Amino acid sequence: MNKTLLTIATMTLAAAACTPGNKPLSGIDPANLDTTVRPQDDFYQYACGGWMKNNPLDAEHSRFGTFDKLAETAQEVLRAIIDSVSAMQNAPGSVADKIATLYNIGMDSAALQQQGAAPLMPYLEEINAIQSRADLWQQLLVMHRRGNHPLFSFFGEADKDDANQCIAWAYQGGLGLGDRDYYLTDEGNNPAIRKGYVELMTKMFTLASYDSLAGIPAANLAASVMNLETRLARSHNTRIQNRDPQATFNRHTLDQAATLAPNIDWRGYFAHMGLLDGTKSFNIAQPKYFEEVSRVLADTDIPTLKAYFAWRQISAASSYLSDDFVEANFDFYGRLMSGREQMRPRWKRVTSVVDGAMGEALGQLYVERHFPAEAKSRMQTLVANLITALGQRIDMADWMTDTTKTAAHAKLATLLVKIGYPDRWRDYSGLEIKPDSYYANIVRSDLFDMDYMLSKINRPVDRDEWYMTPQTVNAYYNPTTNEICFPAAILQPPFFDMQADEAANYGAIGVVIGHELTHGLDDQGRKYDPQGNLRDWWTEQDADNFNRNKQALIDAFDSCIALDDPELGLHHGNGQLTLGENIADNGGLHVSYLAMLNAMSQKQVNPDPMDGFTPAQRFFLAYAAVWASNIRPKAALQLTQTDVHSLGRNRVNVALPQVTEFLEAFGVEEGDPMWLAPEKRARLW
Ligand SMILES: [Zn+2]
Repeated sequence: MNKTLLTIATMTLAAAACTPGNKPLSGIDPANLDTTVRPQDDFYQYACGGWMKNNPLDAEHSRFGTFDKLAETAQEVLRAIIDSVSAMQNAPGSVADKIATLYNIGMDSAALQQQGAAPLMPYLEEINAIQSRADLWQQLLVMHRRGNHPLFSFFGEADKDDANQCIAWAYQGGLGLGDRDYYLTDEGNNPAIRKGYVELMTKMFTLASYDSLAGIPAANLAASVMNLETRLARSHNTRIQNRDPQATFNRHTLDQAATLAPNIDWRGYFAHMGLLDGTKSFNIAQPKYFEEVSRVLADTDIPTLKAYFAWRQISAASSYLSDDFVEANFDFYGRLMSGREQMRPRWKRVTSVVDGAMGEALGQLYVERHFPAEAKSRMQTLVANLITALGQRIDMADWMTDTTKTAAHAKLATLLVKIGYPDRWRDYSGLEIKPDSYYANIVRSDLFDMDYMLSKINRPVDRDEWYMTPQTVNAYYNPTTNEICFPAAILQPPFFDMQADEAANYGAIGVVIGHELTHGLDDQGRKYDPQGNLRDWWTEQDADNFNRNKQALIDAFDSCIALDDPELGLHHGNGQLTLGENIADNGGLHVSYLAMLNAMSQKQVNPDPMDGFTPAQRFFLAYAAVWASNIRPKAALQLTQTDVHSLGRNRVNVALPQVTEFLEAFGVEEGDPMWLAPEKRARLW
């Protein structure tokens, strides 16, 4: 399913009063620790070593951590919901009926094997019938309208000058490997990945019989697609360039777009999307890329573009066809790229698909059964305490003038907070689910989502919309609505334990809340004003100070080791790519620690040691436990190349030495591996 949302900054990668007569727990599970290691030497191993030993990687995971463990549990809950829905007599066309039908058709392995590539073939025949450049363009329109996007992406997002308004965005895309560097550099495993990708395409063209349909050998088709994608990759921005909100907002009228990229028929495109009348202007996020797409449309030979469209079509369908397609896909994207050894069982894959297609319908049932009202009110209190603490931290920032502080407070005051689940649920009555084929339902679901997305463009932004479902184990900040959101599924242990003393809750969910709040003031978020517009509200001096102070985090994460593997080599972190997330972790730790001290002064935190740990120690142990995880080398490499988040180990061992209170809580001294000299610690929030 194709849901793009660029601006939101996510967490992944997760209280006080005790019930009378019920002794609170410390929130620290001794089984998670590895006490054979000194906390001053390797805090991650000390705090998470027991967890890592007790939760070894199984064949279907390339990474398994606290977030993944909760996500697995959520998936079992969803399966139980689907089972109970399926067991009922559902009115035909009801959402329950759609959930049951889609799940059953995805689970019907015999029918899938028997159908083979058949559900895909009408779409390939469409592409094979292309004879002219006019036909090619028409096919691009048809595919984009269905939610499959060759050459570039297209979606609705906030107008950065008027964040209340949703406008169209054209964005770089069209690469099967996702990131330009896979095509262009020999870093890490990239040469093997390129070779494997060509083999995957060759295999898929054969499985789908597109080689015989087109009368061109599969290997030749694959080679021409690889050449074209490599050319597109050369004009892609890097991930770091795409983190710049100003550089990626380039308003164009349709006439200006036609001047920039004359071989793209923008008017025809907007007309086909039903947007021609309402569009005054739209964003071309990477103008240089669209200049290249324009040239590609004019000078690439028609057979190559047909092969490329066919590959996009096969790739989009491959997870919903017979096992030979699914396995070829997994061999490459699962095994080779991310180091997974075994496919997830069918029920998990199908549950994810139903969740992707009707997430809010499942979410509604999920919260009815699994989200106590008390959890919501406890969270509201915690969030309010964290907002207060961030306000205090802003006042304490000695590098910032009062003018900018006043503006920062104004931004905090307008924050929109979402907890648990939306007040209004999405309507799925327009989605058609029928017992024809699994893939035909996916096509209809993608079309339904595309209709939904298009219906939002050139209209006011719906501030009540949620960008995650309640059953998602994650959290986000969205700068254009200035909102933080905590779905129900993250509001459970080890993030949030209603039975535990608050010190551990402040270390876990408190830091998650502080992290999301800080995104509003990180290197990207600070460029948005309280209304979510991209507008500079900083004095020049304060902006200079901020930019100088953030360098400590760039340096720390540039020099940390992400992976040291005999096969894949030595790789360091990427301080620029992960900067926003590292600022958010750093701010989250400081803000939540202060919130804990505030709560302690109000006797909401037990000031005494519990299970041998002081409140400060419980806070930092609970923080580390959130990032407990095992990871395979290929997955560590893949994430280091592409993810804006640092790896779990570094979110603990590199992030914590930045925080003086941590060093004091565990008696870390100069000469200890966890020590960081005071002048190297970031002073931000
Ligand atoms: Zn984040």
